[in-house]
Amino acid sequence: MCQKSVNPPEFQYILENYRQICYNVGNAAAKYGSGSVKIMAVTKTVPPEKVNYAVSLGIDLLGENRVQEYLSKKDSYDKSARVHMIGHLQTNKVKYVINNVDMIQSVDSVKLANEINRLAEKNKKTMDILIEVNIGGEESKSGVPADRVYSLIEEISAMKSISVKGLMAVPPIGSGDEAFDKMNLLFQGVKEKRFPGVSMDILSMGMSGDYETAIKHGSNLVRIGTKLFGARKYLEV
Ligand SMILES: *Cc1c(COP(=O)(O)O)cnc(C)c1O
Repeated sequence: MCQKSVNPPEFQYILENYRQICYNVGNAAAKYGSGSVKIMAVTKTVPPEKVNYAVSLGIDLLGENRVQEYLSKKDSYDKSARVHMIGHLQTNKVKYVINNVDMIQSVDSVKLANEINRLAEKNKKTMDILIEVNIGGEESKSGVPADRVYSLIEEISAMKSISVKGLMAVPPIGSGDEAFDKMNLLFQGVKEKRFPGVSMDILSMGMSGDYETAIKHGSNLVRIGTKLFGARKYLEV
């Protein structure tokens, strides 16, 4: 009666979803000759108990969209997982995440990078980041336009307390192969430029509806919310 339930029956579906995702990711990686592909659990709107259950299954990377929501949940999180900021980040909120996340995947401007650099230096650390690319050129979405990626990375590469680790994108829904292929080309292109202090290790793309297509085009980090935790209960901005 006082025993901690190791497998809460109401979370059983998360286990089944996770198994399915692992299977699909493994198959896609084998089919397309990828190296290992990391699975991130995207936690927006998901209560900490469910997030921790996912971590207990072996997921060791969490993706956070909103600063406020993350701050309210983080103390309840199992600390064994690393946390990446993946949502649009306002410059004035960098101070809340600088010591609380392992990477910021959503850097899309010099202004934001400057603030991250400033606060990282102040806290005597180096912050790992990805450059978010607006690969579909959608006005409603954040991310730097594809034709400005090189110049942005060049500017950021001069910032001492930031380490650029790769690229991230949220391609338009239903965009199929084209957007992912463009991202892959951009990723290879930046890699070839060998900007000092910039390593193109991570290509973060692919969500619940398109992660297999993303893997086909070189993604090595897929960000899964709905297919892992189920449909979100309320709308996010
Ligand atoms: C919500 C979100 C995801 C996960 O989306 P799903 O379709 O639920 O898997 C991935 N990346 C970002 C940036 C998100 O905001």
